[in-house]
Amino acid sequence: MQIFSTPESLKVFLSKQRQQDKAIGLVPTMGALHAGHLELVKKCVELSDVSVCSIYVNPTQFNDAADLESYPRDLEGDLAKLRAHGCQVVFTPTDQVMYPEGPITTLDFGKLDSVMEGLHRPGHFSGVALVVSKLFHLVQPHMAFFGAKDWQQLVIIKQMVHDLAFPLKIIDVPIAREPDGLAMSSRNLRLTPKYRTLAPQLFRTLELIKNQLEHQADPDEAIAIGMKHLGQFPEIKLEYLEVVNSFSLERPSNIKANEPLSICIAAFLAEIRLIDNVNFTL
Ligand code: AMP
Repeated sequence: MQIFSTPESLKVFLSKQRQQDKAIGLVPTMGALHAGHLELVKKCVELSDVSVCSIYVNPTQFNDAADLESYPRDLEGDLAKLRAHGCQVVFTPTDQVMYPEGPITTLDFGKLDSVMEGLHRPGHFSGVALVVSKLFHLVQPHMAFFGAKDWQQLVIIKQMVHDLAFPLKIIDVPIAREPDGLAMSSRNLRLTPKYRTLAPQLFRTLELIKNQLEHQADPDEAIAIGMKHLGQFPEIKLEYLEVVNSFSLERPSNIKANEPLSICIAAFLAEIRLIDNVNFTL
C-alpha cells in the first residue's frame, strides 16, 4: 500500500496508472475507519484497478469547533484496516496542502442545502463540496464511492458532479449497521454505554415511520407517531425528523405512488450528534 501526503507525489504515481488505462476509484473519508467505511473500500477495490482512500478531517465542514477538536483520529489503525482490505493508495493531506491560504471559495446548493443538515449546520455542505471537488481534481478518479448514511451529502455531490461536469461516476453504498440497527459512525465511539443503548432508537423511529407510511398514513401523521415514540426517551434531543422526496429533498404533502422517499433524522445523545435515514419507494 502506497501512502502519499502531498498532491505532487500522488499525482506522479496516479498519472502513471492512468497512462496504463487503469481505472481509478476514490473513497473520501475523515478516518477513524469502521466497517461502514470499509464497505466503501471493498466496493472500490472490487470495481477499480487502483483504489485510493483519502483520510482528511476537513475543518471547513465543521461548524462547531468542539466537534472538530473531539473528532476521533486513528491513522495507524486506519492504515492497518485499509491494508487488510487491499486498498492500494492512501492520501493523507494536511490543512496546509488543502487550504494553503485558508478556505476562500464557497459553494451553494440552493434548495438542496437549505433543509435538514444544511439548515442545521450552516456552511457544512459548502465545506464538504469544496474538499470533495479538490480531491476529485487531485486524484482524477473514474469513480468515487459515497455512503447512503449521509444521504443529503450523496444527493448534493451527485448534483455537483452533474452541474460541474466532473468526468466521473458516483457510486453509492448502502448504510452499514450494527446488529441492533444503529448506523455505523465514527461518532459512535464517543457514546457512553447508557447512550449507546439508547442510540438504536433513531433507526427504530425511522422504521416505525416507514411502516406507518406503508400503511397509508400521511407524512405528518407518520412523523407524529415517530415523535411520540422518541418522546419515551427524553435523553435523545431531536434536531430534525423529516419525510422527503429522496432526490428533491422536498417534503411531499401527499405521497404519490412510486415516489422515492427518505426519512431522515438527526439527534443529540448527550453532546454526540448522530444522523440516520432510510430510503424506500411505496
Ligand atoms: P466520513 O468519514 O464520516 O466523512 O465518511 C466517509 C464516507 O463513508 C461517506 O461517504 C459516508 O457516507 C460513508 N459512511 C460512513 N458511515 C457509513 C455507514 N455506516 N454505512 C455506509 N457508509 C458510511
